[in-house]
Amino acid sequence: MSGFFTDTHKDYPDAPKPEVEKFSGIVPSVSFSSMSTFEQCPYAVYLSKVCSIRGLGSPATDRGSKLHELLEEYVLGTTDEINWKQFKSGKFHAPIIDQFRELYQQDKCVPELKIAFTKEMQLTKWDADDCWLRGAIDVTTYDTPQTAKIYDYKSGNNASAAKHRAQLMLYAMMLFLSQPEVQTIEAAAIYLDHKITNFYTSYRRSDVNLYWPRYQQRLARVTDCRDFQPNPNAFSCRWCQHKTIQEELGQVEPACKFAYV
Ligand code: SF4
Repeated sequence: MSGFFTDTHKDYPDAPKPEVEKFSGIVPSVSFSSMSTFEQCPYAVYLSKVCSIRGLGSPATDRGSKLHELLEEYVLGTTDEINWKQFKSGKFHAPIIDQFRELYQQDKCVPELKIAFTKEMQLTKWDADDCWLRGAIDVTTYDTPQTAKIYDYKSGNNASAAKHRAQLMLYAMMLFLSQPEVQTIEAAAIYLDHKITNFYTSYRRSDVNLYWPRYQQRLARVTDCRDFQPNPNAFSCRWCQHKTIQEELGQVEPACKFAYV
């Protein structure tokens, strides 16, 4: 059964059909981000992953990447200073970041934990040819080997939790599936630009039976897809890079001709 967004592409039956053979196995791997994009507009994934039209950075995404790097370096101890004025929340989150740094010294914290699976859900290397699913958890801490907490840094104005909770839920399932000793996980987004106390969602290992099959279906739709139909609407197209001419890439027209305007 298709989701809400993927159903609406039926309004565009005349969209050019891609060459089927070009799609078979052409999107071999998926992440939470590409799954989310696919559910809004499969054609956007086609343009990015099949046509390799790379995404250009924006000031907001560049800033987010820099903040992530800075925090990672601080937790790892490769830098000792953070200019908290860069964060719109000032020093609000400094205590937990300091705690990550201390836990890292005690081998109880892993910054940027990268987890990669094959389609058969065997662990594999991040860049391996057989990698099907990738997820990078910004911070993972362990109270005990059985009890973990996972965190995702979020920058910018959007502090709405629904999509972020869905991402963290997938990461929690991936951590359970990759680390059999872990029995409970608490997950929280850290909103770097907001003075918002972390809200934790708790998961138990038994939740894998409940949540993972649904994620597996949603993820597989991306890599099984052979018909990446456009789904133009105000919501999907609003932030899509493919609706505008990207002169930096040498484009003379937008990659997508179906954009909602
Ligand atoms: S501009 Fe709209 S229709 Fe075109 S790829 Fe992006 S989201 Fe899809």
